[in-house]
Amino acid sequence: MPRNAIWISVLLLLALPSASASVQKIAPDLYAYISENDSSANSTFLITDKGILVVDTGLNVQEGRKLLEEIRRISPLPVRWIVNTHYHPDHRGGNSVVGPDAVIITTGFTRDQVLRAGTRPPEDRPTQIVVKGELKFFPAGHEVRIYHPGPAHTLGDLVVYFPDQHAIATGDLFLTNSCPAMDDGDLKNWVRALDQILALPLEHVVPGHFELATKKELRHFRDYLAELRDQVDRMYSKGFKLPQVQQGLQLAQYNDLRQFPKYEATFADNAAAYYGQLQHKAR
Ligand SMILES: [Zn+2]
Repeated sequence: MPRNAIWISVLLLLALPSASASVQKIAPDLYAYISENDSSANSTFLITDKGILVVDTGLNVQEGRKLLEEIRRISPLPVRWIVNTHYHPDHRGGNSVVGPDAVIITTGFTRDQVLRAGTRPPEDRPTQIVVKGELKFFPAGHEVRIYHPGPAHTLGDLVVYFPDQHAIATGDLFLTNSCPAMDDGDLKNWVRALDQILALPLEHVVPGHFELATKKELRHFRDYLAELRDQVDRMYSKGFKLPQVQQGLQLAQYNDLRQFPKYEATFADNAAAYYGQLQHKAR
C-alpha cells in the first residue's frame, strides 16, 4: 500500500465514531445501552431469531436514533417489541424511530397517562399490550418476565426480568449512585419491590439512568430509600411540618449519591414527595 494510502486509512479509522462505548454486552443475546445523556433513559435490548425486544427508547427522536444506530451495529433484525417501563417521556420518546412497527407494552396506567398528554406527535402510537400483574413472554425460546411491582416510582411501573441471563431492567425504580426523582408513587411499596428484586439471582442490573450496576449498588440505593422512609415516618408521627422534617434529615452516609445539580432531585425533594404521600394517606 502506498504511504499516503496508509495515512488515509489511519485518518478514516480516527474519524469513525467511537466503537459503541455506551453498549455493554450482558449475556450472549442481551445488551445494556447506557445513555451518555443523563436526562435520557438507559435501554436494554434482547436479540432473538424472531426480532428484537427493547426496554425503553430514550428522551426523543434524536436519542432514539442513537439507540437504533447501536442496535444496528449488532443486528439487522426488526425491533418487534418495545416495553416502556413508565410514562415519563425520557423512557419512551424514541419509540417512533426505534420500532415504528413494534408492539408497545406498558401498564394500563402508563397507557392512560400517554393518551391524556395531548401533545403526542402523530407517529407516537399508544400501548397495544397492557400488563396488569406479570406477563411471561417467550420470544424465540428466550424467557422474559415483564411485571408490575405495584406503585413505586410512579403508579404504573414495569420491571423486565431476564431469568436466563440473571439480569433485570428496573426503569426508574433504581438509579445508580443517585437519589431518585419521585413522582406520585408509593415509597413504602417501592422499598418492598427493591427487596423482591434483591432476592432474585442477578449479576447485572440496568438502571433507569447512569452506569450499569450490580446488587451492591442496588442495595445501597434501597438502604437510602428505607432510611429516608424511617426518618420521615418518625418526624411525621411527631407532627413535624415539612421544612422541619427536611432540616432534621440525617443522611450523611448516603452523600455519595448524586443530588441536584448532578441530578434533578435532592434528599429534601425526596422527603417532600414521601411526606406528601403520608398526608395523602391520612386524608
Ligand atoms: Zn421516571
